[in-house]
Formats: sequence, structure tokens, C-alpha cells
Amino acid sequence: MNFNTKLLHGKSIQPYSDGATLPAIAQVSAFAYESAEQQEKVFTHKAMGYAYTRIGNPTVAAFEQRVCELEGGSSALACSSGMAAVTLSLINILTAGDEIITSSGLYGGTLDLFKDLEKFGIKTHFVNPLTKENASKVINDRTRVIFGEVVSNPALNVLDIKSISEFAHEHNIPLIVDSTTATPAVINPIKLGADIVVHSSSKYINGGGNSISGIIVDSGKFKWDFDKFRALEDFSKYQNMAYMVRLRTDTWENFGSCLAPQNAYYNIIGMETLGLRMQRVNENADKLARALNEIDGITVNYLSLNSHPYHELYKTELNGNGGAILTIRVGSREKAYKVINNLKYVHIASNIGDIRTLAIHPQSTLYIHSDKAQQEAAGVYEDTIRISVGIEDAEDLIYDFTQAIEKANEELDKKDNK
Ligand SMILES: *Cc1c(COP(=O)(O)O)cnc(C)c1O
Repeated sequence: MNFNTKLLHGKSIQPYSDGATLPAIAQVSAFAYESAEQQEKVFTHKAMGYAYTRIGNPTVAAFEQRVCELEGGSSALACSSGMAAVTLSLINILTAGDEIITSSGLYGGTLDLFKDLEKFGIKTHFVNPLTKENASKVINDRTRVIFGEVVSNPALNVLDIKSISEFAHEHNIPLIVDSTTATPAVINPIKLGADIVVHSSSKYINGGGNSISGIIVDSGKFKWDFDKFRALEDFSKYQNMAYMVRLRTDTWENFGSCLAPQNAYYNIIGMETLGLRMQRVNENADKLARALNEIDGITVNYLSLNSHPYHELYKTELNGNGGAILTIRVGSREKAYKVINNLKYVHIASNIGDIRTLAIHPQSTLYIHSDKAQQEAAGVYEDTIRISVGIEDAEDLIYDFTQAIEKANEELDKKDNK
């Protein structure tokens, strides 16, 4: 089965009751039992069943199974947000004294998280870019995980998953990747060696910009050394599944990061068009990038352009799919604001993965907690605009940005002549 068929007919898609083509929305907090004995069996895992939505819910499970199949994982767990997924994927295996290696060019919220983890005694080494060579300079016997973004938002650095996962495995540590911007329509990081994949499913998986959520997919392949990964010690009898068992029955459950059933349902219906949407946004972003690249004074950062530093990995690892995000530099912060303010169709909003095209000035919003060096490592300068391309007609997007840039130039000329 190919990707688009799998989205609709994959083996994770159960026959739902009464022949319904989609799962019912179990919008409840608790599930009632016929007897105390039966309830005991469910609580002691001797019988299948649901007890309480923070611990498990059938609509949420239907969403988890679909993403798990698309990523080629062995199990998946949905969370209340992408940040909950990133956070729990890490703290599930970390204790005070442990260290992380990651890239400096990360999503702003994740950068903030690493600062928070420092207060719990967990240290992060930032390397730029995240390669075998750079990681080998900071790895030591306290390193417990390598974390990277498959395609970083918004720098568009592409992670060489095969190379960095081989390096991680040589040191008996797992590779966790955030594949939000790439999506399973473009790449399956597990196939290339990643051990755990996280998504902010608020973005492309949902697609409509209508629900916040996240998901963690475990390959089930990493061989945990329980003397080294003390956080998993009590779960050693589960062997390769120890990560997911601790996550589900301990870390995630007790942090209370469950996904609302209604939002799981929105994700399921959104996800069914993931393949179509990604194809469209890849094409639109490519056309917009090429058009903007022709305009004087505009520098475009997009993977399909020959000049991009990750153009080779774009062709090989990403199969020529550049994704929906591009950034442009326009010359000054003032001009960036003027361009954004003159857009007619494009919304000024801090999201990606929406079917609508969105634009934002990342330095004054998403990266206000980061210092200049971190901003620049993430490809964020005072004159940078991040564009998350939607599914509109490319001609209209090109028209909108072109006219906004012209108006911005006119306004600046007028000001200079005064
Ligand atoms: C948005 C995003 C997150 C955080 O997800 P939320 O659903 O907003 O919590 C994490 N990583 C990346 C790459 C993102 O784009």
C-alpha cells in the first residue's frame, strides 16, 4: 500500500462500530463497569478496557494507532501538545546528572525547555550543526540522548539521520527526532535509524489549525542498558518496550498530559489528507521561493534552491520535498514589519502547518527568550520573515508577497524623501 492509500485503508484503521467510517468521539472522563471484579481486571491489566481518559481513551487510541503505522513504529502515545511530547520524550529517560546533545538551531519552545531542564540538573550541549563530528567533541559518559529536528523550524537545517543515529548507537544512546516539519508523508526517520520520533501534531498532521496536540512514536528497537538508563530501571522486564511502558504508565500518566478525545478526532479527519496537503504545500513553497528569489533586496532560505546548504540532503533524504516553511530576509526590521502589514490574504499568525498561509516576524515573537547567538543559529535575524505556506493558489501567494514588498518599498522611499 502506498502512503495516500494507507492514510485511508491502513491496517491501523479498524472497522468501527455500526460500520462507521470514522471512530466515535468518546468525549467522556470515565468508563463504567458492570462489576467491581471486572474493573479490578482492567486496572491490573488482566483485561482490556478503558478506565479514565487521562490514562487511556478509544478515540485517542485510534489516532495513536494511525500515526504509529504511518511512522513504522511499534507503539505511539498522544499528548496534549507538541511541547508535552518533546518534554516527556526526554524526561522519560533522564535523571539529574544526565546530559543531552542537540543542535542550536531548534524550535524556540524546545530551546526554552532545555533551559528549564538545567534547573533539574540536566545539562544540554548545543552544537551547530548537529553532525557526528560536532557531537563527538562533547559526548561523554553522562550523555544519555541525542535530540534533533529532521528539518529545523525555521532555519531549515536537515539532519543526516543515518549518520547521527549510527554515531548515537555506537555510544549506546538513543536518537530522538522531532519530525514535525517533515511529516511521515516525506520521511520515516525510524527507517533511517532514529529510535523515537516526536511530532507537534498541531501542525501538518492536524492540518486545519484547529487543535493543539503532540505524539511520541517509539521504534521499539533500542536496546536499553538499565544500569545506564536508571530512569527506566523499574521497567527492565519490558526490555525493548521499557521506554513506552514507563512513558504510558508513569511519566505521561502522572504529568497529566493526555490529549482531549475531540482533538484526537479532529487530528484523524485532518490526517486523512496529509499526503495531498504536503504535495500541495511543497509545490506552493517551491514556486513562491523561486518568485521571491527574483526580487531585488530579498534573500530566500528554501531547500529547493540550489544555493541552499542542505540542498543535497533535500534531494536524497527528503526526496525533493522542501516542506511548507521558508524564510526571507528583506533588509531591515522596519521593512519586515511593513511587508507583513501589507499582506492582503496571508494571516499574521504564529503557527505552521495550517492550510492557510501564515507569516510572522520570528525575532520579536517566537525567539524573544533566546539570545542573539541562539537566534542566528536558528536562522532568525531582525529582518527575517517566516512564511508557512498553505494550499491557496501559488499565483495568488506570489501576487500577495510581491505587492506587499512593493508597498513596503514605496512607504520607505516616501519616508526617506521627507
Ligand atoms: C510547534 C512545534 C513544537 C511545539 O508544538 P506545540 O503543539 O505548539 O506544543 C515543537 N517542535 C516543532 C518543530 C514545532 O514546530
